[in-house]
Amino acid sequence: MSRVLARLVLHPLSQSYPQGFAVAPACSSLAAQGCSSRAATQKDDLGSSRTECGGRRAQPPPSRRSKRTRAWQLVADGMAEGLGATIVQAGSTVLREEADDVPASMLGTQELKDLVQTMVDTMRAAPGVGLAAPQIGIPLKVIVLEDRPEYIALLQDGLAEQQQRQPFETLVIVNPRLSALTNQGARFFEGCLSVPGYQALVERYTSVEVTGVTPEGLPLKLTANGWQARILQHECDHLHGCLYVDRMLSRSFSARGGGSRLPDDVPRPGQPCTCCHHVDAAA
Ligand SMILES: [Zn+2]
Repeated sequence: MSRVLARLVLHPLSQSYPQGFAVAPACSSLAAQGCSSRAATQKDDLGSSRTECGGRRAQPPPSRRSKRTRAWQLVADGMAEGLGATIVQAGSTVLREEADDVPASMLGTQELKDLVQTMVDTMRAAPGVGLAAPQIGIPLKVIVLEDRPEYIALLQDGLAEQQQRQPFETLVIVNPRLSALTNQGARFFEGCLSVPGYQALVERYTSVEVTGVTPEGLPLKLTANGWQARILQHECDHLHGCLYVDRMLSRSFSARGGGSRLPDDVPRPGQPCTCCHHVDAAA
């Protein structure tokens, strides 16, 4: 079913600043139904239903666990019906909330394997170099990332070296915890499939350490530098309800591929910087 999803999530790869980031599906098309003399039902962006009006008492809000279960069911239903899923867009609450830790009881299960496979397929179909589970409507701390030679080959002369960008195999990290290994940072353009069509300069640490577990529950510890470190910071931010626009140099915000020129007062891409922001908490 994940292949169905993959076909339905399309996004061009920027020639100038390949998008490196997340894809995801779902739920934004769920619109509130009109209110009538009867109690009307409204669905939020995770598909949870509640009684809205009509003189009846509203049901209590769903628990986070039931919302997560419902979100996953929506993704699975959509794929089973050939509908796939759509990328969760900025404005959806699932992109602005702290994701839940994956419980120990879920490690090694088929449910988690399905989620990971869906995320990988979706990321590749975008195409992108990273994806966080909230971007497919699932508020769990799971990220996937990879960088492929064909993506890097599209970069303009010298940019791959500036970005310290090297291909790497698919990484899947459950419950990641990030820490910066240096105060040294760099400014480069980033994009996000949850904020399509735009890009901005973002300062990121150039070296980080991430710990977590594999989908099977085995301990995982990784040191990352350059572009891989940037992807990890971008994806882990998604798990804390943070988008790149929360960290961007706002005057660099621009349409992708529009040939726009940075204002003179904005630092140039590639310049080093000194970072001091949190990497494991919302901005
Ligand atoms: Zn993103």
